[in-house]
Amino acid sequence: MEQTFIMIKPDGVQRGLIGDIISRFEKKGFYLKGMKFMNVERSFAQKHYADLSAQPFFAKLVEYIISGPVVAMVWEGKDVVLTGRRIIGATRPWEAAPGTIRGDYAVEVSRNVIHGSDSVENGKKEIGLWFPDGPSEWKSNLHPWIYEV
Ligand code: UDP
Ligand code: MG
Repeated sequence: MEQTFIMIKPDGVQRGLIGDIISRFEKKGFYLKGMKFMNVERSFAQKHYADLSAQPFFAKLVEYIISGPVVAMVWEGKDVVLTGRRIIGATRPWEAAPGTIRGDYAVEVSRNVIHGSDSVENGKKEIGLWFPDGPSEWKSNLHPWIYEV
C-alpha cells in the first residue's frame, strides 16, 4: 500500500499538537509505520528541502526546521499521499480550509505546523532520507473493518 512521509515541525511540537495530529491520521484509517522524535542538522534540513533551495525563503525555512525537535513519521494507507495533503490543508494557512490541520492551527506560512509529501515519488524519496533502515512492518487486525481488501 501507498506510504507518505509526514513531519510535525518544531512549532507543532512546541505547541503540544503531536497527539492531535497523530490522532487525525490514526482515526482516518491510516497506519503508523515509522516514528522518530529528533533534532535535525542544518545540512539534513537543506537536503530535505533541496528542491526549494532557490526560493527566497529557503534560509529561513531551514532555520525554522532546525529550531527544535520534530516528529518524523511514515503513514500508510490507500491514497495516503493525496489524502494526507488534504488532512494537512493548503501551504498558506489563510487558504487552508477549517477542519484541516493548517486551517485549524496555523496563521503564518512560515509556521505551518506540519509537512507532508506532495507525491508518491517524493514520499519514497523522503522516507528513504528520514528512515534509511526502512519503515516498520506490521498489519492492523482492524484492516478489514477499514478497507474492503
Ligand atoms: N514556505 C515559506 N514561505 C513561503 C512558502 C513556503 O516559509 O512563501 C515554507 C512552508 O513552511 C512550507 C515549506 O516552506 O510548508 C515548503 O514549501 P512547499 O511549497 O513545499 O509547501 P508544502 O508542501 O509544505 O505545503
Ligand atoms: Mg512541499
